Amino acid sequence: MENGAAQPVIVAIDGPSGTGKSSTSKAVAAQLGLSYLDTGAQYRAITWWMVTSGIDIEDPTAIAAVAGKPEIVSGTDPLDPTISVDGTDVAAAIRTQEVTSQVSAVSAVPEVRSRITELQRSLAAAAEQGIVVEGRDIGTTVLPDADLKVFLTASAEARAARRSGELKGADVAATREALIKRDAADSSRKTSPLAKADDAVEVDTTELTLAQVIECVVTLVEEKRAGK
Ligand code: C5P
Repeated sequence: MENGAAQPVIVAIDGPSGTGKSSTSKAVAAQLGLSYLDTGAQYRAITWWMVTSGIDIEDPTAIAAVAGKPEIVSGTDPLDPTISVDGTDVAAAIRTQEVTSQVSAVSAVPEVRSRITELQRSLAAAAEQGIVVEGRDIGTTVLPDADLKVFLTASAEARAARRSGELKGADVAATREALIKRDAADSSRKTSPLAKADDAVEVDTTELTLAQVIECVVTLVEEKRAGK
């Protein structure tokens, strides 16, 4: 665009757990002045609501029946991302082991996905400068017309080591098993599974530092913006 402000840029960052999606996405958004959306936090938030409301997580019909009830609000400032359910700040509550172990079952329910996907699309459309959206199905389903799609990968060992570091010394072997189980569930579900879009750029982060991954993605966004 000549002389005008830059067009909003939509960046989709997908991949399994522990590949550095959140740290990378937040930093890229902050550096480029874009909004940021953690879609995993939204699925965790609806899972937290199901658990605290006493809904049977083993019963997809029960989950589907109430999927529209909780009001989930995401703040998209990369320097201060927020998440609330019916006005309650759940940023800490959604990171518990209980929520982590139930989230794949809840997020596999089609009514949950369509509800959350709609929220994601409206937040992306409202981001004036553009947005970095991280998740599992952003490039394939939520924002198939994203300007840039990145798919982050890393070995299971590297992912488990990073996650157990984040969880302050959690057992690496147990973390590895839990990650593999969650990825398998997320990749094999029928509706919108974890998958790399055909036109996504794959970045293997196993041997890279976080700073290197951030630099790589920032460069990819800048190249897109320059029309390369
Ligand atoms: O990214 P995070 O590990 O917080 O995601 C938690 C869970 O939310 C995933 O394991 C997956 O079940 C679900 N999720 C999803 N689709 C997304 C993002 C997350 O199904 N776009």
